[in-house]
Amino acid sequence: MNTAGMLEGKTAIVTGGTRGIGMAVVRTFLKSGARVALCGSRQETVDKALAQLKEENADYDVMGICPNLSDYGQVAEAFAQVEEAFGHIDILANNAGIAAKESIYEYKPEDFDKIMNLNVKAVFSCSKAVAEIMKEQGGGVIINTSSMVSIYGQSSGCGYPASKSAVNGLTKSLARELGPDQIRVNAVAPGVIRTDMVAALPRDMVERLVATIPLGRVGEPQDIANAYLFLASDLASYVNGAILSVDGATIS
Ligand code: NAD
Repeated sequence: MNTAGMLEGKTAIVTGGTRGIGMAVVRTFLKSGARVALCGSRQETVDKALAQLKEENADYDVMGICPNLSDYGQVAEAFAQVEEAFGHIDILANNAGIAAKESIYEYKPEDFDKIMNLNVKAVFSCSKAVAEIMKEQGGGVIINTSSMVSIYGQSSGCGYPASKSAVNGLTKSLARELGPDQIRVNAVAPGVIRTDMVAALPRDMVERLVATIPLGRVGEPQDIANAYLFLASDLASYVNGAILSVDGATIS
């Protein structure tokens, strides 16, 4: 589908933009005319992603940053650099996240802190840093990445659905708080998506998962990026506080 021009003149920051869903969001935003700052956890992976995108299209206007996302000071500094480079920040995609699969008996308290630090505190830090910029410029869009398990839970790795339920709470609350500043806040709740995480699963497990998906296939990163594009665009100008399920109606 030709989406060229949908985000013309807009600028975006995408966390976890170096691979998987985040990379698909970065590519989709660039193809739609946005300038994008992709954010990764290490300079090497950021540089690799930038080189790949530039090879795909030398005209893409893309830069890289890698602050510690749960450190508000580092995030605010990095976002100020993006604002200086692009002049404004219109879209923030809070996508970086990690999963968990340990049973409660094996779950180390420090691993629970780790997942909360990235999946929840980073969303808080990035949203706080960008809200100050967006308020000043008269508006913007924040899109968070939830998960279908925020609704269903999962049978191990309880920190993951707990973190994604917190993302839903942040989304609903910030939509109400920031709406008067013309900042829309929504979330996408993906189902099972073909990224490194799912590709590493045994084939029979993937077959069992697919049996729970009425559309009969796992989702592709592009399926999620399309939802991000809709929410980031002016087509979603009255969509605020939504948790958009993009899971093929998976029966969990
Ligand atoms: P992925 O593992 O392919 O990518 C994760 C991204 O997060 C990477 O770009 C990585 O650099 C970044 N990241 C990881 N640790 C980081 C850290 N400490 N600091 C900064 N960045 C860090 O995963 P994905 O499947 O593309 O997942 C992206 C988002 O989608 C996550 O929030 C995940 O919870 C969510 N999600 C994924 C699925 C799925 O089936 N793949 C389903 C529901 C929700």
